[in-house]
Amino acid sequence: MLLSIQNDNYYLGTIILIILIGLLVVLIFLFIRRVITSIIDGLEIIYTLFSKRPAFVHFYPFIKKLNSNQTNILKQQFTFYNRLDAKHQRYFRHRLASFIDDKSFVGRDGFLITEEVKVLVSATALMLTFGFRDFIIHSVKSIIIYPTEYYSELNKVNHKGEFNASLKAIVLSWNNFIEGYRIENDKLNLGIHEFAHAIHFNSIYQDDINSVIFIDTFTQLRNMFSSNKNFKEKLITSEYLRSYAFTNDFELLAVILETFIETPQEFKRQFPEVYSKVKQMLNFNFSGY
Ligand SMILES: [Zn+2]
Repeated sequence: MLLSIQNDNYYLGTIILIILIGLLVVLIFLFIRRVITSIIDGLEIIYTLFSKRPAFVHFYPFIKKLNSNQTNILKQQFTFYNRLDAKHQRYFRHRLASFIDDKSFVGRDGFLITEEVKVLVSATALMLTFGFRDFIIHSVKSIIIYPTEYYSELNKVNHKGEFNASLKAIVLSWNNFIEGYRIENDKLNLGIHEFAHAIHFNSIYQDDINSVIFIDTFTQLRNMFSSNKNFKEKLITSEYLRSYAFTNDFELLAVILETFIETPQEFKRQFPEVYSKVKQMLNFNFSGY
């Protein structure tokens, strides 16, 4: 009997010791990982001070795949994707599959969410973040789509779309999304406009390297406008940016991104300083830009 109790205590002690050693190993591992990531982050910040871009953008241990229908929609309908080389097209497809998995798509007023809807809306968002390492836009959890303009109970007017930060939602009217997307050079693109708001908001609250570059560069751009009244005046009188841009800083950024995506060459010719800042904000070094 005595021997049995001693044996029990011995086993219990051994188990507790193993658990404690296990916990210690986990803590040491977490500490080492923290130190290594801090060193890497520090090195990247130094690199970014000079290069104004992240040290790397794409790294995927596992590549997610789209189904063939989704891939066909992308190939047939999305110009930006078709301009990428084969390697970056693969990365884009991986990002698209991940983005579609991450977001919930909700149709309202009888609107049916199809594969085409998911692919075109998600690809629009991912085009904007294709120069970012963290591409998922955490400030958006759901994408709500109405067939046409919808009535907002909040401010009692019809809306074409909005980014709702408290609901973590992008709301779009499909007719306006499609019109913005099909006409590629009129500097009006509802999808880009609303996702620009979401990325802006996201970047304020995230501390990843692209968010830091995005916000710092936009601050430089705003300082450029406020310190040089002639320059801002020139921008307003040229009417190159539509007047809605000058409502507030959020609209300024959204209209600038719509204009940048749709008419890059004209933007570069008319306002090269602004153009290069936008390119830096998005790390947008792709064919045509
Ligand atoms: Zn807006």
